[in-house]
Amino acid sequence: KVRVRFAPSPTGPLHIGGVRTALFNYLFAKKHGGDFILRIEDTDQNRYVEGAERYIVDSLNWLNIPYDEGPGSAEETQRKYGSYRQSERRHLYKQYADLLLEKGWAYYAFDTADELDAHRKEHEAKGKTFIYNWHNRQKLKNSLALTQDEVQQKIDAGHEYVIRFKSPQDEKLHLKDIIRGDMEIDTNILDDKVLFKSDGMPTYHLANIVDDHLMEITHVIRGEEWLPSLALHVLLYRAFDWQEPQFAHLPLILKPTGKGKLSKRDGDKMGFPVFPLEWRDPSTGTISRGYKEDGYFNDAVINFLAFLGWNPGTEQEIFSLNGLIEAFQLEKVHKAGARFDPDKTKWYNHQYLQQKSNKELTGLFMDFIASHKVVSGEIAPSLVNKDYITNVVALIKERADFVADFWTQADFFFVAPSAYDEKAAKKQWKENTNEYMDEVAGVIAGIDNFASENIETIVKQWISNRELGFGKIMPPLRLALVGAMKGPHVFDIIALIGKEETTYRINKAIE
Ligand code: GLU
Repeated sequence: KVRVRFAPSPTGPLHIGGVRTALFNYLFAKKHGGDFILRIEDTDQNRYVEGAERYIVDSLNWLNIPYDEGPGSAEETQRKYGSYRQSERRHLYKQYADLLLEKGWAYYAFDTADELDAHRKEHEAKGKTFIYNWHNRQKLKNSLALTQDEVQQKIDAGHEYVIRFKSPQDEKLHLKDIIRGDMEIDTNILDDKVLFKSDGMPTYHLANIVDDHLMEITHVIRGEEWLPSLALHVLLYRAFDWQEPQFAHLPLILKPTGKGKLSKRDGDKMGFPVFPLEWRDPSTGTISRGYKEDGYFNDAVINFLAFLGWNPGTEQEIFSLNGLIEAFQLEKVHKAGARFDPDKTKWYNHQYLQQKSNKELTGLFMDFIASHKVVSGEIAPSLVNKDYITNVVALIKERADFVADFWTQADFFFVAPSAYDEKAAKKQWKENTNEYMDEVAGVIAGIDNFASENIETIVKQWISNRELGFGKIMPPLRLALVGAMKGPHVFDIIALIGKEETTYRINKAIE
């Protein structure tokens, strides 16, 4: 059975790159009827950030990518695979470090940080890089260079130590990756990575391998930044004599320019979020924007994330989550970095908004007005009328990318313009316009059947009877009603805001 895991470290908010990793794991698991597991990798207590785990869970929930096993899941109480937080599994790891010591695949090292630094500098001075592996082991303070007694004395005396992996010398290691194909690596360039520290905590590498093994993970799907660790991980499986999972490293997500990795700074500069949910940094208090709070629909976010590094090989761009599960193929994921395109994310939201019923959008827009505009006193609660709002939604929908656009593009349905676009006023409001507008207000006041088409017929009839030409009447009329040269069909606006409001606005514009 396919078992995959998403294994974030709770060191801050989850970047959309992390969400994409979670999504691809989820899609792959569900495609193969497998399990999707959330494992919190919190062994590095120095980098632990309050609230980050909650944030990860909230993000997955908002995006509708549920995990079968994870902190608090039903499986956890059965304890076959759980706990799912590494900090709660810390008692497990030491025995595996010991096992590697016993097998001769690991050794104690007592070098202090200062000593290692000195070695590094010494090498640099000679134009060389210092690698802690067979090149240097014999010259350093470790159990391969010291006698067993010396080692025991140091441990007994409470010296700080680490347990290092003993990388093999002169080997060509073959690595396989579902996305990248076959690779070969020379083990001479690998350093003897630290697996365990004397504070009783494993490093990422040891905990990650032990947990993937104990949790019976079949496929490791993760970001490209972990590719350099693949050789060590494969060697660890070999050292333990464990069956290794298959690996797939997902391409980087690149800046909109295509140059370099996408970062929060790019979002801040160009005005788009890089996090699924808003995040308040607990130490600085700064707020980072989230897709949810920016008005994105969760299914639109899923859809655009799925296309970061993958596509179905057809023209189809809109996929439901189930559609994605069906179409997704790990082998089809690209090797090259995926350029992030903020316009495309908007485009997706626009598409998903068009798919929603007017009824649903009315509900969403009413919530928006209630929480943003009524609370602030910008509009009277009496204007939050469902039928009225349904009509506004129907007129604006096509132009809207977000629910909030119903307000920015259609606020004039709720409040009379308090100012007029200056440029437009200069161009449209001519010598006789006041006079014409006064007349038009009179014509409109006299209409009984206030349906849009009827108003249009009557006003146009009057324009041609007066031999004025549309250009003299329609643009200033729009300006008077809307305050700018925007919005839907003028007669639709008139019909919706009503006779009284229309004449009021025209008269106000004349003053
Ligand atoms: N804890 C690692 C991370 O934060 C997991 C890497 C992996 O999936 O092996 O990305």
